[in-house]
Parts: sequence; C-alpha cells; structure tokens
Amino acid sequence: MDKRHPRFDTRAVHAGMAGLRENGTHVPPIDFSTTYPLPDVGSGGLAYEELATGQSLGPGRSAVYQRLWQPGVARFEDALADLESTEGAVAFASGMAALTACLIASVTAGKPHVVAVRPLYGGSDHVLESGLLGTTVTWASADGIAAAVRPDTGLVIVETPANPTLELLDLAEVVAAAGGVPVLVDNTFATPVLQQPARHGATLVLHSATKYLGGHGDVMGGVVATDQQWVERLRRVRALTGGLLHPMAAYLLHRGLRTLPLRVRAQQATAQVLAERISAHHAVARVFYPGLPGQDPQGLLGRQLEGPGSIIAVELAGGYDAAARFTESCELIEHAVSLGGIDSLVQHPASLTHRPVAGPAKPGAGVVRLSIGLEHIDDLTDDVMVALAAAETATLTDAATAAPFVDAR
Ligand SMILES: *Cc1c(COP(=O)(O)O)cnc(C)c1O
Repeated sequence: MDKRHPRFDTRAVHAGMAGLRENGTHVPPIDFSTTYPLPDVGSGGLAYEELATGQSLGPGRSAVYQRLWQPGVARFEDALADLESTEGAVAFASGMAALTACLIASVTAGKPHVVAVRPLYGGSDHVLESGLLGTTVTWASADGIAAAVRPDTGLVIVETPANPTLELLDLAEVVAAAGGVPVLVDNTFATPVLQQPARHGATLVLHSATKYLGGHGDVMGGVVATDQQWVERLRRVRALTGGLLHPMAAYLLHRGLRTLPLRVRAQQATAQVLAERISAHHAVARVFYPGLPGQDPQGLLGRQLEGPGSIIAVELAGGYDAAARFTESCELIEHAVSLGGIDSLVQHPASLTHRPVAGPAKPGAGVVRLSIGLEHIDDLTDDVMVALAAAETATLTDAATAAPFVDAR
C-alpha cells in the first residue's frame, strides 16, 4: 500500500484495502462466486491461460473460476506481502497445503532434495521424512547447511523461533550457508510483527495462518510471502492442485491482520512475565523462552527478532508423568493443540504435534508447550501454579513411555 509510507501498525490496519472507497464499501466485500462471467471466448481463454500459469488477474479480465483467482484471497495476500515486505504472497487451505505447494514446485523444477534444520513443526518434519511428495531430506544443524547442499537441492527449510522449544537461528547466516539455494523460513511463531525473514535474505516466508494471523482459533489457512517468480510458481501449483483458501477464511484472516500487532505484543508481554514467574518453581527443570536470560546466545533479539513472542515450552522435572498431570490439571488454559489465539492453550508435543518426529529429534517427554493468550496475567499464573503443584506429585517415568508413532506407508 502506498498512502505516505505508513509504519507497520498502520499498514496492518490498511493493507489490502485498496479501491474500497471507490466501490462504496468500508470493508472488503465477500464474494462466494465459484465461477465468473466471461465477456467473450477469446478474452476468456486468454484469462484462463494467464491465471492457470500463475499470472495475476489482468485489467478488465474475468477471474474465470475460483480455483484460478479469488478477489478476497488476493486482498489478504496483498496485505500479508505488505507486512512481510515481499513482492507478493500466495494463500492456501492450511499451512501444510502451503508447504506442500513449495515442495511440489521445487520437485517439478528438478530439485527434489531439501536441507532442513530441526526442530520443525511436527507435520513439516513428517512430510519431509516420509518423502510423500517426492522430496528427499538431509537433516542438518545450522552450521552443517553448507556441507549438506547439493546440486539438486531446491530448498533449505528452517523455523525460527522453532516449534516447540523456541530455538533461534541467525537467518543471515542460514542464507549465506545456503549459497544461493532458496531459504524457506516458517515464520508462524514470530509473525511479521516480530520478524520479517525476507529482510534477512529468505526467499520464502511461510505461515500457518491458522495460528496468530487468524488469531481466534476459528479459521484455517496457510500463506507463503515471496518474490514474483515464486508467486507465479506457487499460484500455478495451487491452480492445478486446488489447495485453496476459502473466501470466508480469507476475509477472517485479512481481518485478523488488522489487530495482529496489538495481539502479538500483548500476548508477548504476558508470556514474558509468566515465563519469569514459573522458571524458579521446583517442578520445573527448564523453561524454554527466548526472553529469559541466556536463551538468546547469538543476540538475535532486537536485531532479527523484535521480541520473544508468546509461546513458552516448559520441561517438567518429573518427566512424562508430570507433563501429563500438568496438562490435565490446567483449567483456564485449554488442553488442545494449535497456538497463537487470544485464549491460552497447553499441549504435550511428544504425544501430539511432534508425535511423528523420529525418536532422537522428538521433544522431551517432560516438555509441555503453552500458547499464551490475552487473559489476565494473574489468572494465568494461578492456573499454571495449580498445575505445577499437581505435576510435583508425579513419579518420574522413563522418556521412552512417550508416544511411539507408526506411519503406514
Ligand atoms: C500449525 C503449524 C504448521 C501447519 O499449519 P496448518 O495450518 O495446521 O496446516 C506449520 N508450521 C508451524 C510452525 C505450525 O505451528
């Protein structure tokens, strides 16, 4: 958007809203059309070809068919691209559909090899490890990326802060190590409010929009912010494979962006206090939170990442049994997967979101993950203190009791 170079918070409110005044509306209209009138066969056919090959809707052109172009989805994409400072963005039915499109685009360009740094979101780990989409993966540490890159490497995939234990990576270093191979950063945890990976050289910035962007636990979506060339490749994959964002979902996600800076900062402020309050508790072996002393050894806060965010991982001293008791003893904080919404959630990654992750890379059996919402800090503290007291009564169990996973291939 162009209105006098506005600052980030102003752009969050106004991005993607171009042309509304001219149409006589104040918010984006929701258009549910699955098909669009064609003016004549010639221009209809040309529009079809343009859109099916990933180009934008041309002036005066018909949108042809919802799988090829949807105006509300395009508005959300424009807004997200504005906030991530990329040339464009492409939205999908979910975060996993967005990652799938990136992998398919890479495989079909003759680059099926992926270098990835753990930890990643469990589903991302699973899709890479399974090879389901024709990719092969080399798992590398951050300083092993350069050595792992091959001539057929199409993507380097990282997540920072990482799900679930909030490890941080220096993106400029990752990009340098990738040596020209496009770097895909899963920016779900940070959101563009706290981190804009494209500014540090990342080519693809992926979000599970289901989390902070929507922010209310009521809409699924995924989006990739990237350069024009990748936008066209991803739109082509979307047009051919159909992993579409629904117009209603696009509307809700676009609306979610307008309060994103406020939500992210308020949730973060609460998470910081809560992390400090629980870190000295007897039942706690370790709190993983980048805002605690010693947890940002590379000094990325303030340089790459504006703040530590609102996800806290807690390792209970009593292992799996303590983690289970903690999780089940939370009252106000709901026991449920997902994160980033206005209400706080708790879950056990080794059993749930990271269940498919291979043994040694799986989060510890004593680790629980909290997503902090907008409730009052003292109410959250009360709830967590009761749950920690319950966790203290647990008997120490072996990490091996947590969650085997069998994937039928
Ligand atoms: C949830 C999540 C995903 C997957 O997104 P869906 O919208 O559930 O498909 C990917 N990455 C991260 C970091 C996530 O938290």
